[in-house]
Amino acid sequence: MGMAFTVAIDGPAAAGKGTIARAVAAHFGFAHLDTGLLYRAVGQRMLAGEDAVMAARDLRAEDLDHPDLRGVQAAQAASRVAAIPDVRAALLDFQHAFARRLGGAVLDGRDIGTVICPQADVKLYVTASDATRAMRRHKELTAAGQVISREQVLADLRERDARDSARATAPLKPAGDAVLLDTTEMTIADAVKAAVDHVAARLADRDESGPGPAGK
Ligand code: C5P
Repeated sequence: MGMAFTVAIDGPAAAGKGTIARAVAAHFGFAHLDTGLLYRAVGQRMLAGEDAVMAARDLRAEDLDHPDLRGVQAAQAASRVAAIPDVRAALLDFQHAFARRLGGAVLDGRDIGTVICPQADVKLYVTASDATRAMRRHKELTAAGQVISREQVLADLRERDARDSARATAPLKPAGDAVLLDTTEMTIADAVKAAVDHVAARLADRDESGPGPAGK
């Protein structure tokens, strides 16, 4: 596929966005960007003593490989630096360029459908109950060797969601035209299938109405 096609996946922490985004990208052969990782990498550099805005302006590919980015400390630091408008501004160009890649792109985060890619071809807003999200994230963190209680995980998710929703710049909220996907009662396979079916339908719509001389 030689055209740009952008899938925006937003939602609160640990709702299943990342899993769904990776699976959709693999299914259609699209590139995937976990935008939370950008904020985690900036947060990690802030924890190491750097100014957050400087770190965001100078973010490098190797910053995204830092071994601690998946932890709760990096997540909390991410949500603090993410409230700084100049940090968000410094990360815009990279995300825009990624979204416009030929061959399709899936971006997951908090503001993809609302701010980064308001013209996205598909917008999904993925949610799940607090208890379900905490259980899933606790499993992930424990499997990765971290020692943390489910209560601590729940408290981290709630604190970040509150901060992410309340900030003035690019707050967490569904785009007006996003399709809502509540994964509380769904298996991973069900949630992925719902997302893949939706993307497939939009791709088919576009093939029918597209102006391309090549047609179908
Ligand atoms: O998705 P993840 O949990 O890795 O995101 C970490 C933090 O980064 C979020 O709590 C949020 O504050 C911030 N973030 C954001 N905008 C995005 C992606 C993540 O503000 N597009």
